Amino acid sequence: MEIRQQIYWHTTTQMPGEEHMTALPQKVDVAILGGGYTGLSAARTLAKQGAKVAVLEAETIGWGASSRNGGMVLTGLKLGMPTIQKRYGRELAKRLFQYSLDSIDTVEQIVKEENIDCGFARTGHLLTANKQKHFDALQAEVEFMEKEFGHKTRLVSRADQREEVGSDLYYGALVDEVSGGLNPARYVAGLACAAEKAGAALHARARVTGIERGQNRFFVETERGSLVADSVLVGTSGYTGSVTKKLQKRIIPIGSFIIATEKLPAELAQELSPKNRMIFDYKHYLNYFRLWDDRMIFGGRAAFLPETANTIKRSAEILRREMIQVYPQLKDVQVEYVWGGTLDFAFDMMPHIGEVDKTYYSVGYAGHGVAMATHLGKTVAEAMLEGSIHEHPFNLFPFPSAPLHLYNGFPWFLPLAGAWHKILDWVE
Ligand SMILES: Cc1cc2nc3c(=O)[nH]c(=O)nc-3n(C[C@H](O)[C@H](O)[C@H](O)COP(=O)(O)OP(=O)(O)OC[C@H]3O[C@@H](n4cnc5c(N)ncnc54)[C@H](O)[C@@H]3O)c2cc1C
Repeated sequence: MEIRQQIYWHTTTQMPGEEHMTALPQKVDVAILGGGYTGLSAARTLAKQGAKVAVLEAETIGWGASSRNGGMVLTGLKLGMPTIQKRYGRELAKRLFQYSLDSIDTVEQIVKEENIDCGFARTGHLLTANKQKHFDALQAEVEFMEKEFGHKTRLVSRADQREEVGSDLYYGALVDEVSGGLNPARYVAGLACAAEKAGAALHARARVTGIERGQNRFFVETERGSLVADSVLVGTSGYTGSVTKKLQKRIIPIGSFIIATEKLPAELAQELSPKNRMIFDYKHYLNYFRLWDDRMIFGGRAAFLPETANTIKRSAEILRREMIQVYPQLKDVQVEYVWGGTLDFAFDMMPHIGEVDKTYYSVGYAGHGVAMATHLGKTVAEAMLEGSIHEHPFNLFPFPSAPLHLYNGFPWFLPLAGAWHKILDWVE
């Protein structure tokens, strides 16, 4: 059977579509660019407080990374907490880590309040060691997290790891019970309904092509008309384009790809992931995988460049090979779906929120956006309402631009970075 180039998650729900081809309002309090978790979560919060909000989405609502991801709702950030603590000091590191924990609570609360049928569950995550050296580092991490942040994680030895993952590839793993998982497309579709229910207007195929600042207001031009807004919030993540040029120069778009197998026999699925964990490995060029509906959903950075038909096709072969390395049990199993999406990385690998002349932004989730985009979208909206954006912990450190300013928004260096990560995985 031919592998379908289709987002498997989209087959599990009714995604938002052309019903949002509604006429644009003339004037709003807040115009939001991007209809993913950031934009929708912010829109829900703002509209609940009575603000008039228009979400302007270039494609259809939920089209971006928010309906394509692995659905892992994770503690922490992309950078390890020891690095964050070294960089920003103990006090700020504590606040940033607490935000990551709060972000999972926010997802849980929204799912509950809005009755979103997306299978959210705190099944925990498993970080697997590809080498003995990684396992030693995980041991240090368990101690550090408990001592510095009072956050309990635990190690699983190589001898016991079959209790957690049906593979002998690894040198043990770290378990964090606080993380969770969900179906990302069902979640973003539910979030869209919640934002609408709160009173926000969602507009599909309304790519913003120009933003002009007038006196105390913005003139926002889209592909299908214009509107006036008191403030603008940008939540365009890895799809940030030239309409917000300054932001585009600070964001590196990186492709990530996923395959989904056919439905597996229930006993085999149980053997592969006995506790239904969200699993990822320690490599720079990492793999992440989990079950959904007895299918193995297996992702990775098979190519660094953002998704095209070509990178997606190549990724299917690479990911299948990698999946069989982890799980030889899957060598005869059919891969049914492959797709890709684009993540956003800042040059310091940290999320950034902020404001320049009433243009607000929240970007840079680096693979932790299911929880963080939801939570930062919400808290940025709250800070906009309260006028306290400058005190937000994710606005208390600099948002770097490219070293030597060698970047204009086209990530020419990604193939080099990809090769570099492969070398690091080999030597480190
Ligand atoms: C394959 C993959 C796997 C991932 N796995 C995980 C995971 O397991 N856990 C995790 O936490 N994170 C994961 N992520 C990251 C996570 O999906 C993102 O961080 C999160 O979805 C970002 O949400 P967002 O709303 O900011 O951006 P998006 O959902 O990407 O939405 C941005 C939207 O902006 C729109 N847009 C762009 N320009 C304009 C414009 N000019 N005008 C109007 N609209 C515009 C785009 O069309 C897009 O729909 C993964 C990402 C990918 C791609």
